[in-house]
Amino acid sequence: MTDLPARRLLLVHAHPDDETINNGATMAKYAAEGALVTLVTCTLGEEGEVIPGELAHLAADRDDTLGEHRIGELDAAMAELGVTDHRFLGGPGRYRDSGMMGVVQNDHPDCFWQADVDEAAGHLAEVILDTRPQALVTYDSNGGYGHPDHIQAHRVALRGYELAADQGHRIARVYEICTPRSVVEAGFARLAEAGKEFPFGGIASVDDVPGVVDDDLVTVSVDGSGFADRKTAAMRAHATQIAVDGPFFALSNDLGQPFFAIEHYRQVRGEAVTAGRGGDLFPADIDGTDGTDGAEGGAR
Ligand SMILES: [Zn+2]
Repeated sequence: MTDLPARRLLLVHAHPDDETINNGATMAKYAAEGALVTLVTCTLGEEGEVIPGELAHLAADRDDTLGEHRIGELDAAMAELGVTDHRFLGGPGRYRDSGMMGVVQNDHPDCFWQADVDEAAGHLAEVILDTRPQALVTYDSNGGYGHPDHIQAHRVALRGYELAADQGHRIARVYEICTPRSVVEAGFARLAEAGKEFPFGGIASVDDVPGVVDDDLVTVSVDGSGFADRKTAAMRAHATQIAVDGPFFALSNDLGQPFFAIEHYRQVRGEAVTAGRGGDLFPADIDGTDGTDGAEGGAR
């Protein structure tokens, strides 16, 4: 790409909807500030469960057209977040959703879990060299909660980071998505206080939230409170996957979870953030005007 904005953020996610649930407020905030926000989604989410009954026929064990449908949901969600650069790794449908860990779909030859990491990372390195991000966001090594596509996304993201560095662009900061334990506990306390008013089948627990870490492991907390409505609208756009009710939401397990507009990150590569828990994913010395990479070459 030419004429790149000064600040450039890349997010690597497994399925359409993961980006919004985890980073929707962050993406909307940076996009509104003029940063280039690039989303790479590794699969179409073909194996997802479908929440609305009238769309149940899309599922993999029926019409198997959910992936195509979710391309449209992702388009709509990105429009809500103001994100214009979203891509599928290797092109739409290159890697198929692997399903939850332990299911027979894990063995599908086209699924992401079976992908060669170096080959997949090569596709990502092309995006990195094209957009030259200073910050990269993906999951932790367990994929947040053990889903094979999330684990693979982590591996591909970090390998792509290495390949791109070898080819001339080292991303200044790499982050894993996380949620501090105190924040999750407070969120569930709010959910419990809200009582019996919402339509979900039950309430999730702290253990159902991906990537919960001790508070002192969090490096950056991005306050996207001003974009909570954008995140909520984007979640609604992923209608086959997410049911939204006020400040809470549920996935296909129908368990209510608290909604968060402050999103948290743990830095795992690049020069250290020095002043405690920061509020910005980008190095401070990017001046925001000249399009150069102020903090390139940071040591691992
Ligand atoms: Zn996912």
